[in-house]
Amino acid sequence: MKALKFNRVWDVQIQDVEPLRCIEPDDVVVDIAVCGVCGTDVGIITGSYPVAIPGTTLGHETTGVVTQIGKGVTRFNVGDRVVINPTYSCGHCRMCQTGSPNHCEKKLGTEAGVSYDGAFAEQYLAKESSLIKLDDHVSMEEASLTEPLSCTLTGVDKLGITHTNIRAAVAGAGPMGMLYIWALHARGVKAFMVEKNESRVQFAKENLPPECELYTDFDEALTQQYGDKLALIDLCVDTTGQLTEYIFEHLAPGGKLLNVALKDKHANLDILKIADKSLSVIGSIDSLNNSFERAYAMIRDGVIPAGRLVSQVFDFNDYLQAFLTVGCDIACKTQKPLFTPNCKVLIRISDLK
Ligand SMILES: [Zn+2]
Ligand SMILES: [Zn+2]
Repeated sequence: MKALKFNRVWDVQIQDVEPLRCIEPDDVVVDIAVCGVCGTDVGIITGSYPVAIPGTTLGHETTGVVTQIGKGVTRFNVGDRVVINPTYSCGHCRMCQTGSPNHCEKKLGTEAGVSYDGAFAEQYLAKESSLIKLDDHVSMEEASLTEPLSCTLTGVDKLGITHTNIRAAVAGAGPMGMLYIWALHARGVKAFMVEKNESRVQFAKENLPPECELYTDFDEALTQQYGDKLALIDLCVDTTGQLTEYIFEHLAPGGKLLNVALKDKHANLDILKIADKSLSVIGSIDSLNNSFERAYAMIRDGVIPAGRLVSQVFDFNDYLQAFLTVGCDIACKTQKPLFTPNCKVLIRISDLK
């Protein structure tokens, strides 16, 4: 079968590998339909997020059809359409036992698309416990956004939102920013969006939640929303990793800054203000507290319009074009500006519906 292998930084290619089969009783082989391109994949390929083991198949936002089940599998049958939770946790290590299975100490060798063979491939070897059966009306494309939405819900949980009348913002209208603004909207919070990239703006302006304003500059946003560029806000999700100091200076007492960008960047923050203004600087990654199940339910029920957030779908053989669309030019080994209206880019691995 074919799999998109990460060999080293800027060296990825589709290779022929051995077909997969069930080994453990709770194993399930899934033939992949769709797999989403994620910033994590781009970080691995470009070397800015050096976490992957060379030789690993990339891809972790994925759906498909069950084609083999292990002897002990009871909840799935061959032919079932499923979405795959790629985040493994052992249940036994200190992180798992203290409520942080998203930071399981046994992830090395088990994290799909990073250290365990992922789903930019015709087949994926899953565990029964990592699958959710898709309802008939949910497409493979829509359901492939379950994983990034799950990460989003983990972050929204961490914000501990108690009031819906707060001043809230999301920085960056990429897939994570768009999922965050929709998840906040579903939570009753009307955030505004700040995005300066023209390709992101083009897509976002057609696909934001109702009444959410979009600005290309934060000072301008604060002036338009609250009449003063020095206005303070209660909550900001920064998906860019570039605005930590700016947002920190604009937090109202009790304000919260959630950073979800995997950027190698440092910021200077005033410790006195953290205490004196009761500020929170929060990070979040991966799934937690059944966020994966909750994310699927929100997509299934149309609370999050997953299909609308898909900007392009490419065939597996056109993976270079798919990555180029998100600014990752594998052929030229360089990052390029976005050139087309852009949000979540998917790769169609097979024509399974
Ligand atoms: Zn992802
Ligand atoms: Zn663990």
